[in-house]
Amino acid sequence: MNPSPTARPDVPFLDVRAQHAELAAELDAAALRVLHSDRLVLGPEVKAFEAAWAAQVGARHAVGVASGLDALTLALRAVGVRPGDEVVVPAHTFVATWLSVVHAGALPVPVDVDGETGAWPVPAVAAALTPRTTAIVPVHLYGHPVDLEPLLELAQRHGLAVVDDAAQAHGARRAGRPVGARGHASAWSFYPGKNLGAVGDAGAVTTSDAAVADRLRSLRNYGSTEKYRHDEIGWNSRLDELQAALLGVKLGRLDEWNARRRRVAARYGDALADLPDLQLPGAAAGTDPAWHLYVVRSPRRDALRAHLARAGVQTVVHYPVPPHRQPAFAGTPAAAADLPGADRLSAEVLSLPLGPHLPRPDQDRVIDALREFYL
Ligand SMILES: *Cc1c(COP(=O)(O)O)cnc(C)c1O
Repeated sequence: MNPSPTARPDVPFLDVRAQHAELAAELDAAALRVLHSDRLVLGPEVKAFEAAWAAQVGARHAVGVASGLDALTLALRAVGVRPGDEVVVPAHTFVATWLSVVHAGALPVPVDVDGETGAWPVPAVAAALTPRTTAIVPVHLYGHPVDLEPLLELAQRHGLAVVDDAAQAHGARRAGRPVGARGHASAWSFYPGKNLGAVGDAGAVTTSDAAVADRLRSLRNYGSTEKYRHDEIGWNSRLDELQAALLGVKLGRLDEWNARRRRVAARYGDALADLPDLQLPGAAAGTDPAWHLYVVRSPRRDALRAHLARAGVQTVVHYPVPPHRQPAFAGTPAAAADLPGADRLSAEVLSLPLGPHLPRPDQDRVIDALREFYL
C-alpha cells in the first residue's frame, strides 16, 4: 500500500511477473505451440516435461498431476496406503501435507518438531509408529532437505513407505544428490509461487519404482490405463499440455534462479547475523537448500512484522496456525495432541522477501528495515 504517490512501492515478497518477463519470448512460443496443437491433456508436452523433471532430480520416473496436494495424495495411495491406515506427518508444515493423508483415507499422526531447532526428531517418529502405520511423510520445509537416511532405515525395519513432501525443495541437494530420488515417492507442487512454478496449478510425483509410477499413471486418470477400462477407483488429476510446456521452459532456469536465491540468503545472513534475538536460517552441513523461503525467528515476531510493513517490506508467516489447530481438524485425535514445538514456531517464524528477481536495492531495504527495528 502506498501512502502517497511519491512513496516508493513496497518490496514485494516474490515477483513472479519478473520471472515470466525474463522468459517472455520462450514462454509465448511454448503457449502458442500448445494452443495450435490438437493435444491438450497428457500429450507430448507432458511426456517431455516428465522426462526432463525425472532427469533433473535423478529419479527413473516422473508422473505429472494437477497439484501438489494431488501429488501427495496419489503418491500415498500408489505406495499402498489404504483407508484406515495411519501416516506420520510433521506437526509444523503446510496444511496440504496433512490433507493428503485424509484424502488418501488415512489418519494423520503428527509428530512434533523441536521448538528450538525446527528439526523433526527420528526417535519421536519411531515412537509414534503403531501396527496401523503404513507411511511416513517428511517435509523439506522452506527448501531445507531433510536427512531421509534414518527415516528410510526405520521404514525398512517396519515395512513402511517414505513419501517425502518436496513441494518447497526444487533443486535442493543433500550430500550432492538432488531431493526427489531417495524416498519411495517424492511429491512436487508447481504452484506459481514455488521455485519452479507453473502458470496455474500443477504437480508431479517422482519415483524410481516402476510399479509405483504405473499405479500413479492409472490413479491420475480415472484408475485407467486402457481407454474405458477402469481397474480401480481413480481421480481426474492430470497435468495439462499448457502447464507442462511452460514448466519445461522455466525448468531451464531453475538452477540459475536457485543460485540467485542462495546469494540473497547469504547476503541476509551476513548483514543480519549480529541482531539480538533474531534467529537466522542456515544450511545444515552437507546440504544445499533450495531457499524457497528465508524464514527468520523472533519472539517479537508480530512487532517486527508490523515495523517491516511500515517500512514497505512485505513479509509472510509460514504458517500462522498449525494444522492441529485448524478448524478442519477439530474433533480429530490430532486436535487434542500436545505439540508445543509447532505452536512455538507458528508464533515466531517470519518469511522475508526472497526470489531470483529481488533487486539489490530492495535487499538493502529489507536489511536496513530489520536493523532499524533492533538498533
Ligand atoms: C505448496 C505446498 C503443498 C501443496 O501444493 P499445491 O500445489 O498448492 O497443492 C504441499 N506441501 C507443501 C509443503 C507446500 O508448500
